Amino acid sequence: MSGGATATAPLRIAALPGDGVGPEVTDAGLAVLEAICDRAGLTCAVSRHPIGGAALDATGEPLPAATLEAARGADAVLLGAVGGPGWDHAPVRPEAGLLALRRGLGAFANLRPVVVWPGLEATSPLRPERVQGADILFVRELTGGAYFGRPKGIAGTTPHRRAVDSIEYAEGEIRRVAEVAFAAAERRRRHLTSVDKANVLASSRLWRSVVEELAQEHRAVTVDHCLVDSFALRLLQEPRAFDVVVTENLFGDILTDEAAALTGTLGTLPSASGGGDGPWLYEPVHGSAPDLVGRGVANPLGAIATIAMLLRHTLGREDLARRVEAAIAGIVQRGPLTPDLGGDGTTATVTAQVVAQVGREVAA
Ligand code: NAD
Repeated sequence: MSGGATATAPLRIAALPGDGVGPEVTDAGLAVLEAICDRAGLTCAVSRHPIGGAALDATGEPLPAATLEAARGADAVLLGAVGGPGWDHAPVRPEAGLLALRRGLGAFANLRPVVVWPGLEATSPLRPERVQGADILFVRELTGGAYFGRPKGIAGTTPHRRAVDSIEYAEGEIRRVAEVAFAAAERRRRHLTSVDKANVLASSRLWRSVVEELAQEHRAVTVDHCLVDSFALRLLQEPRAFDVVVTENLFGDILTDEAAALTGTLGTLPSASGGGDGPWLYEPVHGSAPDLVGRGVANPLGAIATIAMLLRHTLGREDLARRVEAAIAGIVQRGPLTPDLGGDGTTATVTAQVVAQVGREVAA
């Protein structure tokens, strides 16, 4: 996945700030990216494009063709958030822009790291000693399974209506997302947990057999299989037992939200989607937080953590990714923190502190 900036060719970033707090946190992420590129002797060229509600207002489309074209032509895409009460009754919802963007980039893998940062254990709903040190990377399949399978729909009339959804996976769809997960496990602690429901679902039995085949080609990675119901339980009982977790679309949708709750806040969580022929798309997990818009208190750490993902996955610069993560760890230990983490810091003060620390770290 690596590519992009060198000392001479700039890293081309398409920034899609979107709605609500999206622009505020996107600016924070870009400030950190620019600081670290400066210090590392890299250049980045940032262009901004509308998506979501902002794009609906400007063009009538949640994903204007020009935005998709700019995104596809970039080395990486940074998204803020889309949606908000202003568009709740719009004939086309802003979120349609995000789905179309993921489709347009060919994104089939969704990476969701869940880290309980040292110092933030108390914000978790679980006991601190249980979550201390938890560091999991979820790899969720994004384009198959129950959300897209056919047949689908409701037929008949009351009281005899029937509904059907279909879970369908082709071997190749499983293999390509599992490859992403194995590669990630090889860069991390070399432990992969594949989550399925192979005791009941045919699609899960195929999933498991493809993962088993790939395990033979990635012998440095320890692989175990876990049924989704048992995994949901173990995630709360022993979150530190997991390194990389790979699963299909529906299970991944549910489990990544369960895992997010372990951290106690949505504000610090990043994600990345990609794997196809387009660039990777980086976005914080949270939405547009209409309750926080314009107050200057949105937590920028999720967006800043997406910069670490971009440096790692698009640029292949693990060293720079770690510097950003070290700066986040420093903020979490010493502040300032935004109100969602119990502090009285602002988006601006947190961002300024990360920018300063990234500069110091890189210079060191
Ligand atoms: P949300 O994530 O916007 O907010 C949920 C809660 O988390 C709120 O209390 C909010 O204040 C808090 N929160 C979110 N981001 C935060 C941050 N950076 N710092 C501190 N606190 C933060 O979810 P919601 O309220 O269910 O949805 C609001 C809008 O966002 C809806 O229109 C929804 O469709 C959209 N949405 C978009 C995305 C996306 O763009 N990927 C994801 C989820 C929701």
